[in-house]
Amino acid sequence: MSAPIETPPAASDFIRDKVRADVAAGKYGGRVATRFPPEPNGYLHIGHAKSICLNFGIAAEFGGVCHLRMDDTNPTTEDPEYVASIQRDVKWLGFDWGENMFFASDYYDALYELAEKLITLGRAYVCDLTEEQMSEYRGTISEPGRDSPFRERSVEENLDRFRRMRKGEFKEGECVLRAKIDMASPNMKMRDPPIYRIKHAHHYRTGDTWCIYPLYDYAHCLSDSFERITHSICTMEFESARELYDWVVEATEVPWVPKQTEFARLNLSYTVMSKRKLLELVEGKHVSGWDDPRLPTIAGLRRRGIRPEAIREFCARIGVAKNLSTVDVALLEHCIREDLNAEAPRVLAVLDPLKVTITNWDREPDELDAAYWPHDIPREGSRKVPFSGELLIDREDFMESPPKDFHRLAPGRAVRLRHGYVITCNEVIKDAAGAVTELRCTYDPETRGGAAPAGQKKLGTIHWVSAAHALDVEVRLYDRLFSVEQPGSTEGVDWKSELDPQSLTVVRARVEPSLASAKVGERFQFERLGFFIVDEDTRGRALVLNRVIALKDGYAKLQKPKEPEKRARPQAPAAEKPAAEKALSREALALKSTYGITDDEARALANEPLLLSLLESAGRSEVVPFLVNEVLREIRSKELASVPFDGTALVELQLLVNDGTLSNKLAKDVLAAMIAGEGSPREIVDKRGLKQTTDEGAILAAIERVLAANADAVARYRAGNQNVIGALTGLSIKETGGRANPKLVGELLRKKLAG
Ligand code: ATP
Ligand code: MG
Repeated sequence: MSAPIETPPAASDFIRDKVRADVAAGKYGGRVATRFPPEPNGYLHIGHAKSICLNFGIAAEFGGVCHLRMDDTNPTTEDPEYVASIQRDVKWLGFDWGENMFFASDYYDALYELAEKLITLGRAYVCDLTEEQMSEYRGTISEPGRDSPFRERSVEENLDRFRRMRKGEFKEGECVLRAKIDMASPNMKMRDPPIYRIKHAHHYRTGDTWCIYPLYDYAHCLSDSFERITHSICTMEFESARELYDWVVEATEVPWVPKQTEFARLNLSYTVMSKRKLLELVEGKHVSGWDDPRLPTIAGLRRRGIRPEAIREFCARIGVAKNLSTVDVALLEHCIREDLNAEAPRVLAVLDPLKVTITNWDREPDELDAAYWPHDIPREGSRKVPFSGELLIDREDFMESPPKDFHRLAPGRAVRLRHGYVITCNEVIKDAAGAVTELRCTYDPETRGGAAPAGQKKLGTIHWVSAAHALDVEVRLYDRLFSVEQPGSTEGVDWKSELDPQSLTVVRARVEPSLASAKVGERFQFERLGFFIVDEDTRGRALVLNRVIALKDGYAKLQKPKEPEKRARPQAPAAEKPAAEKALSREALALKSTYGITDDEARALANEPLLLSLLESAGRSEVVPFLVNEVLREIRSKELASVPFDGTALVELQLLVNDGTLSNKLAKDVLAAMIAGEGSPREIVDKRGLKQTTDEGAILAAIERVLAANADAVARYRAGNQNVIGALTGLSIKETGGRANPKLVGELLRKKLAG
């Protein structure tokens, strides 16, 4: 088997520490073999993903193997559909069991033989007590149990009855095979547990070959032994079963002795994870199927548009521990956003269209060039977006009587249309009921593609589409399935009544025409709205899109004080990174997720509206370092309330640095000139002749002049004083008018002095 290449490195945990110690001690000859053992009676969910990442992850890290084993010992609930779904989901998560696919049902013969062996050794007996009697005989936690009247049957009688059980001579429940351990054991699990029961049922793999089936506590540990598993990792509810696990392995005298280790299962807020409840939701048609995008099933998460990378990252962050806790679903949502932020191209879409007529548009539609990765400047890829006299914007981006800090469209106010022009709203048209039906605006032809409008500074940027060109699509807006944090935790309240009726809203949306060629499974960020994926219900050009997740980071709500008894904290290892993020405001978190920037950068931007409006008009995260350092310094030192340029000028400046025209030092000078209103970066560079030079001849000539004028410094350098080189470099750069590349000057100077 192998683990995916990008599996996040798992921090160590108590299980990995144990495996490491076992390997170091040469236990099992240094071998590591784990297994993931689902029962094929339902679809896998994100809790299983935790176990999959753990088992396959450990095998990969220690050069071992991880088996996929169907723990299929219950004929009435298992189904090949579930086997197929489990295999698909494990693969999709990025793991490969290779040759090591097993079925407990393949061990039925071997398990039967060992049961006869236990009988022969006097370690098991056939008991005819009814189920009620048996539980009565079992005693309680505080009282020991009583021996069954059948406990002392002879080996011969037991063998005979067990063989007749197998032949089908008894009805279901008439008798069971029990391990003969200790009815007074403080561990209830050890009070002669049943290990075989009668079930006259057809098994999906063994058909009608068997009418007796082994119980989990007997079959599981022996399957582990047959497969030479070293570390049998399971969830905490099996802790009390460990004693029985060890007993069965020892009593059957199998040669391979695996060991069980338990960890806490994953619980997630705002959802349910038990297979029984998931089945009830599916069968009761509360959801559309096992792959309903609101379910925590792997199939549901996949259809929702989440990538396996995000799930693996989530599993790495929650870590592995023994203490039970509920992880906030916001942490999962955070991992999803972080993953898609780096992956999804940005496009324009409008979910709740409001018509905008551009009254001074008197020409053919314009074709705007729009980058797919405006937040990631070196990444190539763009498309054409048509702009015309009739546009649509999201209703939310217009307010008739807005507060002062509303940086979107309002009567008399201007806004930048992403990738397009600045428009100003002149007139609001309403229907008879007073609802706004249309906005009449004018555009500024000078502002195409983000150029600075004269005299306009703090402009917001909104998304839009051209009405005649936009595609009409179905968008499914998914939200959390339950409206309460811990469904089923309130006495007397049916957990199904806690389903959120608004967890799915279907809208007709309008998207830019480039999406006509989108394929099923392709993901996009609809700018300012969220991440979306093309759903498999898409037929030809009739697109159906699922909202994977909105842009807003729900993690921010963790900042709010919460009722301590209701919300469990994420497990300790999980807390680290998100804990730091708690300090971020909601706005900063949104910025971080939109632009893929650091916490500090997001904080600086969120605190300074001028920086933010510059970033919005630049629309590219590449300018962020310059913004939060140089621009912020200038704003603070000069106490500026506005600057006479917008973000696109900063993009231009950055490009001049990128292509080597300007050094960082010169870029600061240009910035100062821009603030002084001297024009665009290029104009300033031309006017002042600031262009950085890499012309070696010119630089050498300048160096020679400097050396000639500073003979004593040269002498000191040659006498061994290295310190003067800094001063000489500075003088030489100055001599070139500050235009020489400092690195080149340093190199040439050293060469000159050495020669
Ligand atoms: P059930 O026992 O009700 O059928 P299950 O969820 O335990 O359901 P299994 O198919 O037995 O399902 O689980 C397979 C493996 O996944 C087991 O090793 C189990 O411990 C592990 N597992 C199941 N649920 C979780 C969870 N929420 N978190 C971590 N591991 C889990
Ligand atoms: Mg189970």
